[in-house]
Amino acid sequence: MSILEREDSPGLVTTTLDHWVAGAPFSGESTRTGPVYNPALGTVARNVRLANADDVDAAVQAARTAFPQWAGTSWAKRQQVMFAFRELLNQRKEELAAILTAEHGKVLADALGEVARGLEVVEFACGMATHAKGEFSENVSTGVDVYSLRQPLGVVGIISPFNFPAMVPLWFFPIAIAAGDTVVLKPSEKDPSAANWMASLMREAGLPDGVLNVVHGDKVAVDALLQHPDVASISFVGSTPIAKYIYETASAHGKRVQALGGAKNHMLVLPDADLELTADAAVNAGFGSAGERCMAISVVVAVEPVADELIEKISDRMRSLAVGDGTRGCDMGPLITREHRDKVAAYLDVAAEDGAAVVVDGRRVEADGDADGFWLGPTLIDNVPTTSRVYQDEIFGPVLSVVRVDSYDEGLELINGSRYGNGTAIFTNDGGAARRFQRDVQVGMIGINVPIPVPVGHFSFGGWKDSLFGSAKAYGPEAVNFFTREKAVTSRWLDPSHGGINLGFPQNG
Ligand code: NAD
Repeated sequence: MSILEREDSPGLVTTTLDHWVAGAPFSGESTRTGPVYNPALGTVARNVRLANADDVDAAVQAARTAFPQWAGTSWAKRQQVMFAFRELLNQRKEELAAILTAEHGKVLADALGEVARGLEVVEFACGMATHAKGEFSENVSTGVDVYSLRQPLGVVGIISPFNFPAMVPLWFFPIAIAAGDTVVLKPSEKDPSAANWMASLMREAGLPDGVLNVVHGDKVAVDALLQHPDVASISFVGSTPIAKYIYETASAHGKRVQALGGAKNHMLVLPDADLELTADAAVNAGFGSAGERCMAISVVVAVEPVADELIEKISDRMRSLAVGDGTRGCDMGPLITREHRDKVAAYLDVAAEDGAAVVVDGRRVEADGDADGFWLGPTLIDNVPTTSRVYQDEIFGPVLSVVRVDSYDEGLELINGSRYGNGTAIFTNDGGAARRFQRDVQVGMIGINVPIPVPVGHFSFGGWKDSLFGSAKAYGPEAVNFFTREKAVTSRWLDPSHGGINLGFPQNG
């Protein structure tokens, strides 16, 4: 039985999913709801409440009320909650993975991988007292010491996308909470149940009510959060146009903002690359999670003469991929909604119109699942013109484009010409070329013979250009800074013989 059907899952066994405020399900005042699909069945599994501004205010007030006591709780006690949460999450990760598969559609093994990457950040947050410790300089001037300390911001808002309903919230709330902040999380309304499950688990781990709240909703809820005077910061992950809007609106309302946007990730393949490894990597990174990953590889840039051989190896592997219901041991699941599947599939017509060659056509897929599921098989398109929308747009589906170039420099120029700068990878056996690439490429996260270079939890995650608005990346050290404010203290304990009047600006001595 899925966790979503179990009677001991508070707030989850409902036909309409509630918000989670002050440690309990909360229905709020809004009567608007949205559908939540099982994408492998193509049917509505439940509805989710869509908050109005008053419902968002109720969540913010719960977080605001909880803040003074939580901020005053010792680092050690806050860390103990994180350790307990880490243990519970690890023990019960299959339950969370089942929720992800049921609402997002990704296959179970991939859903477990998502939870594992989120757990890394929880583990980082278990050491927050160390990460957020201040600095101390003794005797900077005679008898004067300077030290710094970090304090929480207050109520922080988190707005997350559909494609990682557990991992992306986990990028933020463990660090914010361990730092002493209180949280209002607005997850994607397309797969909202994971957020309630995690909030309920945090309560089980000992988190006081009101420290982590979840409001469900769409633009109405997001706007209420962005404009709320009691929200100190916004952490957003989603598409580039919305990320830009979030950055501008939240900044205009005086908030600290980090807004991670969309991507178009290129894989540069040099002629000396190991083509077996490269083909495996292109298939794994292109079609894992049906290409609905911000770090998916969507363009293979093949430096000639490798393209023909590489395309053959990639397409051979693609034909062996099993597409179907994520609970049945397949390699790849459905897309998130019917509309999104249709939008992605329409790019195959654009490709044909623009003179590209569709090598493997995912529309012909025979899925191991219900006929109404939102299926689209792995698709490979060769000779994609860089003027085509197939190349320019973030398609966010199982569509891999190949662009052929004649040199490393031409490939580099192509990548640096992209408006996005999230991730990229180079495949080569030439260390000098790889080293040059890591210096010259205008992208935030780089893989060298690694196709999805998501940094481990104690580094920070974020792109350049239109892939990140604001100056702070997600998780790791940048998140410690983002979720805290620093104070610098200059102190002097007077020696009885010292003192006197001096109106000049103090000089060190
Ligand atoms: P999205 O931008 O449609 O939605 C993200 C969040 O914004 C959701 O919570 C949604 O409810 C809200 N939202 C949507 N439209 C809004 C509007 N008009 N005004 C205010 N809020 C709005 O993104 P998505 O489709 O859920 O997720 C996929 C996108 O996220 C892709 O572009 C992907 O590249 C990106 N993404 C980026 C990263 C990264 O780290 N850079 C990670 C994961 C996903």
